[in-house]
Amino acid sequence: MKAILVVNARSSSLKFQLFETEPGSRVKRLLKGQLDGIGVRPRLRATNADGAIAMDRMYSPEEVGDLPAAIQVTADWLRGTGNVDLAAIGHRVVHGGPEYSEPILVSPEALDRLARYIPLAPLHQPNNLAPIRTIHELRPELPQVACFDTAFHRGHGPLADHFAIPEELYAEGVRRYGFHGLSYEYIADRLPQVAPELAQGRVIVAHLGSGASMCALAGGRSVESTLGFTALDGLPMGTRPGQIDPGVVLYLLTEKGMDAGAVQRFLYNECGLKGLSGLSNDMRELEASTEPRAAFAIEFFAYRIALNAGMLAAALGGVDGFVFTAGIGENSAMIRARVTARLAWLGAKLAPDANARGETLISSPESQIAIYVLPTDEELMIARHTLAVIGPAAFA
Ligand code: ADP
Repeated sequence: MKAILVVNARSSSLKFQLFETEPGSRVKRLLKGQLDGIGVRPRLRATNADGAIAMDRMYSPEEVGDLPAAIQVTADWLRGTGNVDLAAIGHRVVHGGPEYSEPILVSPEALDRLARYIPLAPLHQPNNLAPIRTIHELRPELPQVACFDTAFHRGHGPLADHFAIPEELYAEGVRRYGFHGLSYEYIADRLPQVAPELAQGRVIVAHLGSGASMCALAGGRSVESTLGFTALDGLPMGTRPGQIDPGVVLYLLTEKGMDAGAVQRFLYNECGLKGLSGLSNDMRELEASTEPRAAFAIEFFAYRIALNAGMLAAALGGVDGFVFTAGIGENSAMIRARVTARLAWLGAKLAPDANARGETLISSPESQIAIYVLPTDEELMIARHTLAVIGPAAFA
């Protein structure tokens, strides 16, 4: 059986999914797993398509000390599971820079070009590229496809992708890119099946996970995003502040004596829901807490989503629909209710029972905008792209 492996590599975890290629250029999920706790408490877990546990094993930090070791261990296990014949590997790569608006077959030259974008995504890009290099060394004949989180937004017009800074910086790549593009692309693909008329219209999609952003879709195309140059802008996130006056960064540097590395660690790891609540970056824990600071962080999150919805509504010239997705968007009826309440001025009205049950359509019949909950599937999007890039080789 020919299969496509999808890899999403982060600093301390390696997420992977295995898809069988099917006639008609379709893919079917076989396996889903992750190796987390790399270098600390490594644990490899995987489930089959029916949810049955296929693997659950701890390793010592010496056995899985870094990302290349994690790839090796995962690859060994996958090989041992039987008759999987890999046709290609699809990777999530956070930054495609100004150059890439489509997934690409990665060559050593392309890998070098992608490494140039490391300064644009210092915490994500190196981890995304490391497995590609490792696998290329082990299996140079195996096609590897890079799918970019920025690509879906590359059609943004100049008003959306500029900062008000001198043009030379824009020319060298200091632009508003937008991220979570694979998630938005999946939603844009899914919407015509769920709500064909709405898919032609003006839709705001809120991807609310540990990273969070919103995207304005006009007829299924991204026209504006709350994220910009890095994954720090826009909405508050689990541990990132979202939009912040650059003056605060200057204050940290000049008054608090922090150097650039300390500011970077602070902005990526210590802010957002975690910083604001002083308790946790996890929405489930905040919702379960009785602490006033947890309640404030939740209210702040909903408020900023609504503020950004106003901005995206202006970019679209009105709104026909709103979609919630990702961990919080798909699972937190409370956040959905609070955001919708703040969008009453746009004519949004919730159907509380449908929202509590997490149904697909959660707006009431009187609502002037249709509100949906759609689970995202970035890995499926990567598998589809990978299949499209390698073409018939997937079945040879
Ligand atoms: P990522 O893929 O970026 O790590 P996810 O899309 O998995 O993030 O989202 C993680 C977030 O979703 C966490 O803040 C988590 O608390 C939240 N979440 C997951 N399930 C629920 C739930 N039932 N209620 C509220 N929040 C939830």
